[in-house]
Amino acid sequence: MVIEDETALGEVIKAAFSDENFEVDLAEDGETGYFMGISGIYDAVVLDGMLPEMDGCEVLRRWRQEQIQTPVLMLTARSELEDKLTGLGLGADDYLTKPFDMEELIARIRVITRRQGTVWLEHLTYKDLSLNLNSGVIENTETKQQVRLGKKEFQLLEYFMRNSRQILNREQIAEKLWGYDCEAEYNNVEVYISFTRRKLKYIESGVTIKAVRGIGYRLEYRND
Ligand code: CA
Repeated sequence: MVIEDETALGEVIKAAFSDENFEVDLAEDGETGYFMGISGIYDAVVLDGMLPEMDGCEVLRRWRQEQIQTPVLMLTARSELEDKLTGLGLGADDYLTKPFDMEELIARIRVITRRQGTVWLEHLTYKDLSLNLNSGVIENTETKQQVRLGKKEFQLLEYFMRNSRQILNREQIAEKLWGYDCEAEYNNVEVYISFTRRKLKYIESGVTIKAVRGIGYRLEYRND
């Protein structure tokens, strides 16, 4: 997520990250960004220091107080050295001074996401299942059977594999796949879960996405 009140700059940052295959939500004031970040669905946040409604330091302070540990990179103006230091004290993972180089920003975001444990490996694995993060192909590591996932199936399975011990609810999944913009997409979650299950079955993986009644879904292995 990018929280930046200068609309043009926000759009430029969003476009640059989109080119690198990140899904980006944009918030234009601190309060909106604060509430969007409370869900904990973001892999990282670019947070401007000077914002209307709630300033960047306050957003960060509240998140950390509420145990939202999403990595945060703060943007500060050259004259806001004090903000910078306050930000690091509050638990920002990094900062950049405006104006900054876009490639530098992207490189730093990759670093702070790695630091949190979201490793940018080529493969994610869980039990007999391997997901290739470049090609979107899943493989049964025992039988070597493979199939390619569609874009949303890929995002869905990646989300489950990165959170393999957690139950994920429908809202979290919808927000991860479509962002906050499309509430109408909530019902599509089940459709994509069913597509993804079919592909897991096709490669005869023992892993499937199990519904946990009234709560959400989680990964399950046949011997669990
Ligand atoms: Ca600003």
